[in-house]
Amino acid sequence: MAIVRRREFLAAAGGALTCMVGRSLPAWAQGRIKVSELDVLAVIDVQNCFVPGGTLPVPEGDKIIPLINAMAPAFQNVVLTQDWHTPGHISFASSHPGKKPFESVTLPYGTQVLWPDHCIQGTADAEIHRDLKIPHAALIIRKGHRRHVDSYSAFLEADRGTRTGLTGYLQERGIRRVFLVGLATDFCVAWSALDARRAGFEAYVIEDAEDLWDAFRKYDDVAARAVAQPKILTPRDLS
Ligand SMILES: [Zn+2]
Repeated sequence: MAIVRRREFLAAAGGALTCMVGRSLPAWAQGRIKVSELDVLAVIDVQNCFVPGGTLPVPEGDKIIPLINAMAPAFQNVVLTQDWHTPGHISFASSHPGKKPFESVTLPYGTQVLWPDHCIQGTADAEIHRDLKIPHAALIIRKGHRRHVDSYSAFLEADRGTRTGLTGYLQERGIRRVFLVGLATDFCVAWSALDARRAGFEAYVIEDAEDLWDAFRKYDDVAARAVAQPKILTPRDLS
């Protein structure tokens, strides 16, 4: 997984990515990456529920929207994801008597963090944010839409058996590399990136927040155990 700072990506949208300041440079660093028809931009969960004013807001989450709008034209292929829960969804604390948001429960598929009710199907809260302007996006993957299964990942739901169909779509389109951006970086974007790698794609996370690097190293440690020969890039791998 590579982490690309969004503003640096924007500086080069449509062409080569500019060199970014990173913390260390692996010996196999590749240098320049150019977007092609073999790449897809996956815009993860940029919905009303995840920005300030929504039911499960990411602080300043709306600030990434202009950045995504600016980088998206560089990609011929764009897919969106949408968290899309039933009322009474199993990931909601309100579905578990005595439990509060951000506590956890044990479900048949493992530990489930409990959230406030959010992104309920058909509500304004669950809609893609209206400021997101990517008219050429070809696909919206809705995830977590089964009442008894949550899904952070755009590829594989929390039971780790239910597939969203995104892997097949990208394979049929001949996609090799998945660039991910969206909300929230340390949950749905990260899980999606790891599953993209497990599915055989190269995965790049586009992020401009320095303090999230350590969070990703944590996920990369998980990935290193789960995926043979993971590609872990620093921003300086791109130029
Ligand atoms: Zn959710």
